[in-house]
Amino acid sequence: MITRADVERLSRLTSTEWPIISLFLRVDKERIDEDYTIRLKNLLRQAADDLDDRFDSRQRQAVLADLDRIRDFFRDEGSRFGRGVAVIAASNAGIWEVHELPREVESKIVIDFEAHVAPMIRILEQLEPFVTCLISRDSARIFYGRLGTFEQLQQIVDEDVPGQHEQGGWAQARYERHIDEHARMHFKRVADELSRLFEQQPYRWLILGGPDEVVAAFVEQLHPYVRERHAGTVRLLMEANINEVHADSCEIIRRWLRDEKARAIEMLRNEALSGDQGVAGIDATIDALQQGQILTLIVDDSFQAPGAVCQHCGSVQRKDGTDQQCMFCGGPLRQLTDVVAAIVTRAFQQGANLLFLTTPEEREPMEELGRIGALLRYSLSNQTNA
Ligand SMILES: [Zn+2]
Repeated sequence: MITRADVERLSRLTSTEWPIISLFLRVDKERIDEDYTIRLKNLLRQAADDLDDRFDSRQRQAVLADLDRIRDFFRDEGSRFGRGVAVIAASNAGIWEVHELPREVESKIVIDFEAHVAPMIRILEQLEPFVTCLISRDSARIFYGRLGTFEQLQQIVDEDVPGQHEQGGWAQARYERHIDEHARMHFKRVADELSRLFEQQPYRWLILGGPDEVVAAFVEQLHPYVRERHAGTVRLLMEANINEVHADSCEIIRRWLRDEKARAIEMLRNEALSGDQGVAGIDATIDALQQGQILTLIVDDSFQAPGAVCQHCGSVQRKDGTDQQCMFCGGPLRQLTDVVAAIVTRAFQQGANLLFLTTPEEREPMEELGRIGALLRYSLSNQTNA
């Protein structure tokens, strides 16, 4: 499966001489009503038909040869893939990469002098790892996964905690103290395990599962940097099967992401209105991008807008109509019917946090803010004063 590091590297992949094909294909074999080979054939044919005068005849020949190579590759090895796949190809420039993607990728093909990585950036949140820990007074199960994949790493049983119901009478109070002490040691051991895991395989979220009072006592034992990742609690028994654990964990993550997006939009609304650390709308977002100012980019993932990209320095520019030259380097501009993918890629390269609004409920509050906007690294009012 593709990683964030792969996407970072691919986002810098350019070739001045040879066009790079970026193909994204959903090969979701769980959907028997769809045959991806037909979709692939149509995409390849469309790409060959659409080769425009940006490319000279030598470059067009190279692209056609790579389209054939891609067709042959899927004929021979397509059965290896079960979700989504990306192929980045410019054989003459020594570029040929195949990456497995989550199934959520949209099938498309783009041919340009740089790799088209926006669809991969868009699915990175699917790849963020999380840990789910089911906890009781004497055992724990630790799972590691992503929205797409999930596995149990460890089962911990500290069985010598005495049963709570086996004793009564005069020893009751002493037993309860003993149980508490034992449970506390067990919680401590599991908490240490989660810290150790975090150091080896960092994870973004922690989901806990168990009775409320147990989870509350366990949270006390977590190291602060693990505790701050606690995204929610699932109501599951220790015996729950792994699919249930995964499904309920994903629901917590989705809710967490929804809340994060809603919070960011609310903050953007306040900051943009006060003209402080936020901008709304395509033009102001492009200005902020050019100044390397974007801390968090918030974008409706169905939004498209025209603009231009400098063919020399790659900077994104507003659509101003008359201007044919880059405002930074004087290089030739290429007008695009959709500049949003380029904005997403540049913001990603600048290390911005990216939030994609993917459902009608998430998109709705962003409508009046122009469907794209950014929280900024520095206050706009400080800059005007400086
Ligand atoms: Zn330029």
